Amino acid sequence: MNLCIVGTGYVGLVSAACFAEMGNDVCCVDINPSIVENLRQGIIHIYEPGLEELVRRNTSEGRLKFTTNIAEGMENALFVFITVGTPPKEDGSCDLSYVYQVARDIGAGMRDYKIIVDKSTVPVGTADKVRALVNEELGNRGEHIEFDVVSNPEFLKEGDAINDFFKPDRVVVGTDNVRTAELLKALYAPYARSRDKLIVMGVRSAEMTKYAANCMLATKISFINEIANVCELVGADVREVRVGIGSDHRIGYQFIYPGIGYGGSCFPKDVKALIDTARQYGYEPGVLASVDDANARQKHVLSRKIEEYFAVRGGVAGKTLALWGLAFKANTDDVRDASAFEMIRDLTDKGMKIRAFDPVAGPNTQRHFAENDLLAVVDEQYAALDGADALAVVTEWNQFRNPDFPRIEKALAEPVVFDGRNLYSPELMAALNFVYYCIGRPDPK
Ligand code: NAD
Repeated sequence: MNLCIVGTGYVGLVSAACFAEMGNDVCCVDINPSIVENLRQGIIHIYEPGLEELVRRNTSEGRLKFTTNIAEGMENALFVFITVGTPPKEDGSCDLSYVYQVARDIGAGMRDYKIIVDKSTVPVGTADKVRALVNEELGNRGEHIEFDVVSNPEFLKEGDAINDFFKPDRVVVGTDNVRTAELLKALYAPYARSRDKLIVMGVRSAEMTKYAANCMLATKISFINEIANVCELVGADVREVRVGIGSDHRIGYQFIYPGIGYGGSCFPKDVKALIDTARQYGYEPGVLASVDDANARQKHVLSRKIEEYFAVRGGVAGKTLALWGLAFKANTDDVRDASAFEMIRDLTDKGMKIRAFDPVAGPNTQRHFAENDLLAVVDEQYAALDGADALAVVTEWNQFRNPDFPRIEKALAEPVVFDGRNLYSPELMAALNFVYYCIGRPDPK
């Protein structure tokens, strides 16, 4: 099949490479000429395990092409996927300007029947707006061309995106058009092999499904974080509580790991966007508003512990913290809404120096904090410890899970570790003579 994919970010490029891998011809369109130029040479601008190899192979075998010109990209395509960003506005509502621009560009450039597939996460009703904008552009050209607009939200996880695309839990297709649904079923057949994995529903239900899924996952995280905070106060251990509740199959073990709040480019903005949608319709979404508030507070839990520890040691000003992990989670370079960034702001605002390391998110962090003289991003894990008073771990990269503890102890002024991801065993840390702070257990005396 012939596809055009507009927007070559985490979702667009992964989708394009995975569609091409199954033999489809895919032309990717991006507005950014340097991204397109690099992609043509097999250089990818994001970190996603396995993606570079997939892009290179499918490009060299001629199934994957790149252009900045949407009319050229759509020329042979039956499906035109919209995979551009939908970032949050200041007020939490969804910024649809990129999606709307693509809709106008499609209307201005299309020459024959297209199935326009919206894969970006968009509020309910956006497909109708996309349809109206395409029609408006066609009207401006005095043309009448048939087209269809489908909602096909994406559920991949950064860091494991290729695996998720090849083996999805489900593929949601929102359309009322039976023929269009059949064509999408054919396109997705190699991925959603068992037929009940492809779920066809109304367009609005499909748009809503993406938000409901992300909000459910965010709710689980804020819930367990709240339980963890209470555990700390009452002398319980959230690790034990997690096992105790997860064994109930109605609850399950997944997504109930406590930490320092969810981040990334999806959960924070999608929770806020659904809150905004509900309020637009005059409904106050109390549960979602609390999930969002709880998460905002959780992002400061570890910096508060650090400040309290140093309060009786002359304060954090002038002290140095080694910080392991900057990306919002492991296996990605994505730092959008990363909890590490809140910590960096909290602590450098109070005069603490930070030496940070992340396996891939260092450059993105440096760009973000270019003006912050108190932050140094280093390119080796143990170099972050040079001259540091304490270590904080905030992203669950595998290489942080079993580090050289004697080396850490030797490098730090005091053997104190603040663990925002509960990576280490408190018993082991005590045996190694570390003062160990984590999430969901009472702090050391
Ligand atoms: P991204 O910011 O990584 O990439 C967007 C790309 O679109 C950029 O390369 C940008 O240059 C390009 N672009 C912007 N305007 C354009 C235009 N007019 N024409 C052509 N290209 C244009 O975004 P992302 O993280 O891939 O997210 C895309 C959408 O998918 C969002 O709605 C997001 O919520 C959703 N989503 C993201 C994830 C994820 O894990 N990142 C998962 C599921 C769904």
